Amino acid sequence: MIPFNKPYFTGKETTYIEEAVKSMKISGDGMFTKKCHTYFETAYEFKKCLLTTSCTDALEMAAILIDIQPGDEVIIPSYTFVSTANAFVLRGAKIVFADSGKDNPNMDTSSLEALITQRTKAIVPVHYAGIACDMDSIMALANKYNLFVIEDAAQAIDSYYKGKPLGGIGHLAAFSFHETKNIISGEGGLLVINDLQFAKRAEIIREKGTNRSQFFRGEVDKYGWVDVGSSFLPSDIISAVLYAQLENKEQIQEKRKNIWQQYFKQLLPLSNAGKLKLPMIPDYATNNAHMFYLVTANLEERTRLIAHLKQKDIQTVFHYLSLHKSPYYESKHDGRNLAMADFYTDTLVRLPLFYELTEEEINYITAEIVRFYNG
Ligand SMILES: *Cc1c(COP(=O)(O)O)cnc(C)c1O
Repeated sequence: MIPFNKPYFTGKETTYIEEAVKSMKISGDGMFTKKCHTYFETAYEFKKCLLTTSCTDALEMAAILIDIQPGDEVIIPSYTFVSTANAFVLRGAKIVFADSGKDNPNMDTSSLEALITQRTKAIVPVHYAGIACDMDSIMALANKYNLFVIEDAAQAIDSYYKGKPLGGIGHLAAFSFHETKNIISGEGGLLVINDLQFAKRAEIIREKGTNRSQFFRGEVDKYGWVDVGSSFLPSDIISAVLYAQLENKEQIQEKRKNIWQQYFKQLLPLSNAGKLKLPMIPDYATNNAHMFYLVTANLEERTRLIAHLKQKDIQTVFHYLSLHKSPYYESKHDGRNLAMADFYTDTLVRLPLFYELTEEEINYITAEIVRFYNG
């Protein structure tokens, strides 16, 4: 079976884990965590970075930082992972779901303004498949209505919008290093703070509501409980794995982009013949090759395609189920029909994409897709 995903290790992970262990400091904010912070702050010029144990945690920190209160409204795409919404629901927010666009699953910015009310506090764009949302129009709305923008950049490492790195545009942003992402640490995440008004409080929230970070820097002579918070920081063992990956980021990205281009080239004739749809990357966006997906005509066709490929030992998977129709949120949703979110729920399918996928495997996969459509 060609799996959908297979984690790639550069070889340095275990060396760095051993270094962390030998340093006798494997709790949070050790040597490797600091190296990772510096890496992100240098490579992407993010103003302040704090590693977390997951992207989910980074989003939960963001919800606390912008002081979400019960009844506040947050605009989130329906076609996303549960954590995007859950982080705000935990603080009592009401989720106002945005539909996806026609060109790709990202939120349709042309219909966003109509969703804004007196209670709207934030917009959370998700850069699906690492492809940028239309950030100029989102930031313009945020400025006009005084809203916060939190980028769910879980899939968006090393991807850009008009030359700006994703995660560096909104007031706050969250990345994921889950095993299924481009750069991995098993579980892991990053909170990016672009609006420095949040910097000091972010450190406190991440350290159980204490000013321990300031204490370790010698800025205060004792530390104590100063705010709400939780334990959001990863062990330095996790950061050691992440740093090994970051050191090899260029090589990982080059390989993934190459695989993506091969898929695209080989499936283009089917797309030109109108049999399926390939990812659409807007002019303002780059492609970080997080994912290769295609869009079938309908659910029935997708089910048959996945079954056909499974029979040929190729694992392909669909993706999100519209959150506005989820068992948890359906009764709380305002009832609007979100046709494009439902469309991608039914028709999007992801192909295997991982570092060690070979050219022969790619050729085999695309040949089977061609055979499915052309008989
Ligand atoms: C992976 C992912 C998350 C969750 O990331 P974790 O690190 O597993 O918490 C959130 N949002 C999106 C869009 C994701 O793809």
